[in-house]
Amino acid sequence: MADNAHPRFTLIGSGLSGALLAAYLGRRGYEVDLYERREDPNAGNFVGGRSINLALSTRGIAALERVGIAGDVLASAIPMRGRMIHGPHGDLHYQPYDKDPALHINSIGRAALNSATIAAAQKHANVRVHFNHRCTEVDLDRPAAKLINTTTNQPIEATGDIVIGVDGAFSAVRRSMQRLDRFDYWQDHLRHGYKELTIPPTASGGFALEKNALHIWPRHSFMMIALPNPDASFTCTLFYPFEGPASFAALKTDDDVRRLFEREFADALPLMPTLLDDFNGNPTGSMVTVRCGPWHYGGKVALLGDAAHAVVPFYGQGANASFEDCIILDECIEAHAPHWERVFEEYDRIRKPDCDALATLAVENFYEMRDKTASRAFRWRKKFERSLHTLLPGSFTPLYTMVSFTRTPYAQAVRKARRQDMVVAVVAALWMIVVPAAVLAIQGTMKAPQALTLMATIVYTVVMVMYARVVVRRRLREK
Ligand SMILES: Cc1cc2nc3c(=O)[nH]c(=O)nc-3n(C[C@H](O)[C@H](O)[C@H](O)COP(=O)(O)OP(=O)(O)OC[C@H]3O[C@@H](n4cnc5c(N)ncnc54)[C@H](O)[C@@H]3O)c2cc1C
Repeated sequence: MADNAHPRFTLIGSGLSGALLAAYLGRRGYEVDLYERREDPNAGNFVGGRSINLALSTRGIAALERVGIAGDVLASAIPMRGRMIHGPHGDLHYQPYDKDPALHINSIGRAALNSATIAAAQKHANVRVHFNHRCTEVDLDRPAAKLINTTTNQPIEATGDIVIGVDGAFSAVRRSMQRLDRFDYWQDHLRHGYKELTIPPTASGGFALEKNALHIWPRHSFMMIALPNPDASFTCTLFYPFEGPASFAALKTDDDVRRLFEREFADALPLMPTLLDDFNGNPTGSMVTVRCGPWHYGGKVALLGDAAHAVVPFYGQGANASFEDCIILDECIEAHAPHWERVFEEYDRIRKPDCDALATLAVENFYEMRDKTASRAFRWRKKFERSLHTLLPGSFTPLYTMVSFTRTPYAQAVRKARRQDMVVAVVAALWMIVVPAAVLAIQGTMKAPQALTLMATIVYTVVMVMYARVVVRRRLREK
C-alpha cells in the first residue's frame, strides 16, 4: 500500500482486543469496519466461548485508561489481593501477591469487559461494527477480507486499505498469512483441558469462600482455581489431563466425578450443588500456545492479540497482553504513520520478543501453580522475595510483581528476574558455606580452610542433587 494518511481499516474479530483496537483507531479519526462472527452481545446473545471471568491487571488497565473506560470497567471488578491455597485436607494458606496490599489483580466478567470495549469503539461515528460476519480468508495483496454474512448466508468482501486480524487463537487472517513464503508458525496444545464449574452464593447471598482472593487447589498433576464474581458466586476452572488414567476421558460416570471431588476437592464439594450439571453441561476446553511471524504483511495486513500470540492462561496475562498490544501499535502509529509498513515492522520488532517471553512464562506458571504453590518451600521463597522487595525496593522486584503490576516489557522482566535469582542463589550459597564454616572454626572443630572446603562440598552436592531433581521432573513432565 502506498503511504496513506487516511487509510480505511478492516478489523476481523470484535473480541477483547479487536473492539479496543477499533476504539484506538476510531479515536485517531480513521475509518474502521469491524467484522465479528458472533451476534451483538448487547442484543443479549453473548456467547463467551472462553472463560466466564478473567484476571485484569496493570497492563490491561493501562490500555483501557487510554480510551477512558478503565474506571467503569473496574467498578464491577472484584479485587483479588492474593492466592488462597486449599491443601488436600482443607488447610488454607493465604499468599499475598505483593508486599503492598494496594496492588491486586481484578476478577472481571468477560462479557461485561467485551461489552465495554465494544461500546468504546461504537462511540466513534467513524467505527462501524458488523456482527454476524465470519471471515473465511483474506486476499493479502489487495488486501480484502472475504466474509459470510451468517444471517443471510451471503458472501461479501470487505476492501479496506489495511486488514488487521484480531480474531483470536484460531485466526482466519493468520491462516491466510500461513500461505506466505517464510511465514513461521508453531502451535502447542497443552495435554490438559479445562472445565468451568460454579460455586453459587450462600443461602444468605454471600460469598462461600474468601471474596478477595484467587483460590487454588494445587494437586501436582492437575489443579482447580476459582475467581469471584460480582453476584457472590465463584467460577471454578478444573485443569485436568485430557487422556490417561486420571483424566477427563476416564471420568465416565457421575460417580467418577463425585469420587474425584470427594478425594481431591473435599472442602469445595459441599459448596458445589450443581457440580454434576455443570460438569456434564459445560464443554471441555483446550489451551494452546501460538507463536508465529512476521505479524504483518507489508503495510497491508497485520495480526494482534491471540491471533498473533495465544498463550495458556496461567499467568492471567493473555487478555492483558492483547490489550497492551493496542498501546504498542498505537505508539508505533504515532511515531511512523503514514508509513504503514514501518508502523507494522516496528510493532513486530518491539512486541514479538515480549510475547514470546510471556508464552514461556505462562506454561512455566502452570507447573508452578499446580506443583509448587502447596509446598512450604514455595511459601518461604515468596516470603523471602517479598522481604527482599521491601529491603531493596529499587533493586529487587519479584517476577510476578513486574508482570502483573508494572508495564516492564515481559522479556526485560524475565531477564531481570533471572539476574535476581542468580544473585540470590550465590548470596544464599555463600551464606550457607561461610556461616557454618565460621561456627566450626570458632568451636575449634576444624581449621577454617578445612571447614570452608567441607561446607562448600556439602552445598555443591545439595545443589547438584536439587538440579538433578529439576531436570528429572522436567523430563517426566515433557513425557
Ligand atoms: C480458560 C481461560 C482463562 C483465561 N484467563 C485469563 C485471565 O485471567 N487474564 C487474561 O489476561 N487472559 C486470560 N485468558 C486469555 C484471554 O481470554 C485471551 O488472551 C483474550 O481473549 C485474547 O483476546 P483477543 O481479542 O485476541 O481474542 P478473543 O477474545 O478470542 O476474540 C476473538 C474474536 O474474534 C472472533 N472471530 C474468530 N474468528 C473469526 C472469524 N473467522 N471471523 C470473524 N470473527 C471471528 C471471535 O468470535 C471473537 O469475538 C484466558 C483464556 C482462557 C482460555
